[in-house]
Amino acid sequence: MPSIKHVAITGGTHGNELTGVYLLKHWRNNPVQVCRDSFATELHLANPKAHGHNRRYLDQDLNRQFNWPDLNDHALCGYEQNRAKSLNTLLGPKDEPRVDFVLDLHTTTANMGVTLVVKSDDPLVTGMAFYVKQRLPEVTLFHEPSERMDDNFLISLGRRHGLLIEVGPVPQGLLRWDIYHQTETVVGHCLDYLEAVNRGEALELPAEMPGFRFVQKVQLPENERGELIAMVHPNLQDADYQPIAPGDALFMTLDGQTLPYEGEETLYGAFINEAAYYDRHVGLSLMRPCTIKRSV
Ligand SMILES: [Zn+2]
Repeated sequence: MPSIKHVAITGGTHGNELTGVYLLKHWRNNPVQVCRDSFATELHLANPKAHGHNRRYLDQDLNRQFNWPDLNDHALCGYEQNRAKSLNTLLGPKDEPRVDFVLDLHTTTANMGVTLVVKSDDPLVTGMAFYVKQRLPEVTLFHEPSERMDDNFLISLGRRHGLLIEVGPVPQGLLRWDIYHQTETVVGHCLDYLEAVNRGEALELPAEMPGFRFVQKVQLPENERGELIAMVHPNLQDADYQPIAPGDALFMTLDGQTLPYEGEETLYGAFINEAAYYDRHVGLSLMRPCTIKRSV
């Protein structure tokens, strides 16, 4: 396994997710916390303008702009589309990246705790996720592998891909110590893992671990004018990664009537009542449990 020389930590990819933004500020003043002997760590505020406006994005979601055709499409010139091209120059270019690994820091308003989004089956990536979960068993792994050049997430700029760290619940535009500190702890484990890999240490990692795979998003109920007529049901609120069986309550209408889950398969909820998804009236994601295998 070739060694890792350059690691980028990115925050504020969504400008109103302050945890990553403030961790970057903290580490700029205390760089020893993210330094390891065998590689260089760099810190990047990914979407400074959106952060300045305390918004998720100005024109487009930055964390959907990194697939290879879009990075090379100069007709795509919204703020985030240009910002993606700048980050591609800074960290990539994606077809031959300078940076080996990207850790991208996010928060969610949903009660998901720490979720690691594993978008690659590269053993370096799955190994990192397993290493973190081994030390913090409450961590949830979200398995959504894709070809790196097709992946539109920022982490796909890394030569060996990267890991998206999603921590909640925390409202947009504010800080909570517990969320901030959990994120800091996870990043520390990720960097320790890369250091151990570079040193050739024998890591006792399991061959497989449990996770979840995305199945589908569920829309909040609307009337014919496209206005919301219901909200997440109180039984479901904060019940991320719990089973949702056919007939279970999903939504509560404005006048207090329960709307049940009409699917035929018991699935699990995530991003339940995520504020960032209200623009598209998405109420939650449904997930299916899976086993993630670590290729060696
Ligand atoms: Zn985010």
